[in-house]
Amino acid sequence: MSAASHPNSHSTPNTQSPDLVIVGGGIVGLWCAERAAKIGLKTVLIEKGRIGDGASGGFLGALMPHQPVNWIAKKEFQLDALMSLETEVGALEDATGLTCGYRRCGRLMPIYTENKLRQSQTWQSASADNWPTRSPSGGVINWALLPDTPNTDWLSPDPSLLACDFDTLSARVNPRAMLQALATKCTSTKVEIRESTTVRTISKDGTLTFEDGNMLRPGHVIVAAGYEAFDLLKPLTGIPLGFGVKGQAALLQPRTPVSPDLPIIYARGTYIISHDNGLVAIGSTSETVFDHPRSVDGELENLIQNARALCPCLDGAEVVERWAGVRPKAVGREPVVGTLPDAPNVVLASGGFKITFGIAHRLADAALGAITGRLVALPPKFDIAYHYASGT
Ligand SMILES: Cc1cc2nc3c(=O)[nH]c(=O)nc-3n(C[C@H](O)[C@H](O)[C@H](O)COP(=O)(O)OP(=O)(O)OC[C@H]3O[C@@H](n4cnc5c(N)ncnc54)[C@H](O)[C@@H]3O)c2cc1C
Repeated sequence: MSAASHPNSHSTPNTQSPDLVIVGGGIVGLWCAERAAKIGLKTVLIEKGRIGDGASGGFLGALMPHQPVNWIAKKEFQLDALMSLETEVGALEDATGLTCGYRRCGRLMPIYTENKLRQSQTWQSASADNWPTRSPSGGVINWALLPDTPNTDWLSPDPSLLACDFDTLSARVNPRAMLQALATKCTSTKVEIRESTTVRTISKDGTLTFEDGNMLRPGHVIVAAGYEAFDLLKPLTGIPLGFGVKGQAALLQPRTPVSPDLPIIYARGTYIISHDNGLVAIGSTSETVFDHPRSVDGELENLIQNARALCPCLDGAEVVERWAGVRPKAVGREPVVGTLPDAPNVVLASGGFKITFGIAHRLADAALGAITGRLVALPPKFDIAYHYASGT
């Protein structure tokens, strides 16, 4: 039954019988909506809170490649996505006049042990085999082993420092600015964004039931509800195809301005990222057991302390925001995209975990491909069947 004929369907005239409903207004849902509008699908995006209320609404935005050794399909997929994102962001900024805070700033990883030094030499030579030498805009891509910190204000000259890995493939984006640009593009291309609307259930035939009891039966549904997608779909999948991993992060205002060109520092599990807005983001904890998805605690204070020890620029920097979110992780540990076996109109797109911002546009291509029949080749471990097998 279509929305037009269902007694309880929403009656907004321009959204009756949408071709596609996307559940979730995070980075994955918004890219899906952008893609859907591009191919002319009448699309409604449903978000239970506001756009960016989930994990995507933080401020880290690291776009870091997998290590270039043991080259496999998922690494090739991510590399392709990271390269193409540069062009995608340029087009999005041109279309909206908004900035996404994107910069291919590189990444600095201090080395403190001989073992790690030997491993880095392997990574360096593998990067030459597997990475391109130029970005789409012509920037040089390489992996260097630096004998010391290149900037003693940014990375502390620790006496135990043996060397530093420095790659110029890594980049960063401002997550909130990126969401805003995508939402603006979606709205301007006639995607209807409905905030403060919660989907309570999705049935086998793709009928959505909302919190207020209303129902809607679109042509297709993409569930991009982050970690909550797994519980929402459990009545259809039988097993939860994933879970949430909480992360805490902080945003600091340095006492004196720091350059937005500085590379991401990744050291001892801590990320430090200088953004275009003059603020420095620090992340992140990884918590599989948690009581409150959004609370911050002493673990974050430890992280801030670690970051201050690594980065002299952060001495005396004011913490302007403390934030927590929950990342979606699929049971197969890789992202999951595809049509549910028992619900041919329902597509799941989630599980990007710590790398979603770099690959969400490609996950969206695959989700739309599952709807149009123009299937996009994906790493085998992204397949829904693989996750079913991992979860049982
Ligand atoms: C501290 C931290 C740091 C991170 N750092 C990075 C990083 O540096 N780089 C990177 O790439 N990734 C990073 N991540 C991971 C990244 O943020 C997530 O993987 C990504 O945002 C997930 O996007 P999503 O669209 O799948 O889910 P979400 O952003 O969570 O979006 C899902 C949306 O669906 C909505 N929703 C849920 N259920 C319903 C329902 N029933 N009805 C309607 N709407 C619903 C939610 O409100 C939410 O807005 C980080 C995450 C955290 C927590």
